[in-house]
Amino acid sequence: MSQSTSRPFGEHDHLNAISDQLDVSDDVRRRLALSMQTVQVNIPVRMDDGSLQFFEAWRVQYDNTRGPTKGGIRFHPDVSAEEVTALSFWMMIKCAVVDLPFGGAKGGVCVDPKTLSLQELERLSRGYVRAFYDVIGPDRDIPAPDVNTNETIMGWMSDEFAQIERRQVPAAITGKPLGLGGSNGRIAATGRGALQVLDLWAERQGKAPNDLKVAVQGFGNAGYHFARLAHERGYNLVALSDSRGAIHSADGLDPVPVWQHKNETRELKGMVYCDTSVCEEPETDQLTNDELLALDVDVLVLAAMENAITEHNTDSVKARAILEIANGPVSSAADRTLAERGVQVLPDVLVNAGGVIVSHLEWVQNRMGDTWSEEEINQRLSERLGREADACFESAEEGNTTLRSAAYRQAIGRISDAMERQGTRE
Ligand code: GLU
Repeated sequence: MSQSTSRPFGEHDHLNAISDQLDVSDDVRRRLALSMQTVQVNIPVRMDDGSLQFFEAWRVQYDNTRGPTKGGIRFHPDVSAEEVTALSFWMMIKCAVVDLPFGGAKGGVCVDPKTLSLQELERLSRGYVRAFYDVIGPDRDIPAPDVNTNETIMGWMSDEFAQIERRQVPAAITGKPLGLGGSNGRIAATGRGALQVLDLWAERQGKAPNDLKVAVQGFGNAGYHFARLAHERGYNLVALSDSRGAIHSADGLDPVPVWQHKNETRELKGMVYCDTSVCEEPETDQLTNDELLALDVDVLVLAAMENAITEHNTDSVKARAILEIANGPVSSAADRTLAERGVQVLPDVLVNAGGVIVSHLEWVQNRMGDTWSEEEINQRLSERLGREADACFESAEEGNTTLRSAAYRQAIGRISDAMERQGTRE
């Protein structure tokens, strides 16, 4: 993960170019180039064996001009201050691209959650809320799930927040279980939103789903729900991978039995698959992750981690388009090379915004004390994302730019306008 810093502050070139185009003032440029607040703590956790361990943890609030800051918490052994800062910057851009009344933040804990028992994981999650209690809250900064965190963890965190406040504050955390104020549709929202952006792109290319061969790197929550819905829509899903390996079938894969198998055995590697079920006679090939990235497909979906494609492996990419479901899966150097080669990159800040859009709906429901049906949620998600994605596609076409530049223009235009309207704050 040493390269994880390359994008955001390689991202500054991008920021400057767009600021030039939009005639952004010097004051706003300076504000955009720095995060507002970084809090770092060491969380003490009493382990099952009685020992005390400390876990390094961060919350970075990049900017709150357009509203309380928003963003997930990641549990991963490679988490660093630089990575969390980059992720918080992308949250600020993402929320503005889809016009949510939120700024951007991100949290992280340096831990491999697979090495913890369930009780240790709960103590760590509650410890996170105790440590950052002063800087989070429904009008301040609202955490949510990210890599290796889920609704169970959000449930514990929300309960810890309520214990400290001695009252229920469900809008302080999103991505909670349904019974604790979570929203219908939140779990599948990132995958559903990503599919909507792919559909819009395919339509503009004059392609039907079954004309398009798709490979998916990353089979976590977002990758799985994307794959499931894309398969239902008729895309030809030929390969899937997790961190340990990939499976490939030229005839297409149904992600649902693959997901069941993964949940039973914890990995895709060694899995045999035929037709629609896991079976004795292998019809699938086993591939490495690198081989999956080099498959001759129409759309390569990156749903794992940052920097899956860098200058070291861009040349091996044969796909015509890349759908970024993870945050920052294409390094800035690789992004430039892909653009030169005419590979269209559908950018993270638009493609994976479905998650935070439904987080916003969860926050709104919690504040109103109401619940909406899944149908209502999906309708609102698709309206907002469709409107904002169309605007990005149109402006990319008009300005003859990449979709990423168009999305950044949309976001930075909104953020800079809000910053200007705050006045000089003197
Ligand atoms: N972690 C997700 C993201 O990167 C969701 C954030 C949220 O819902 O606040 O967009």
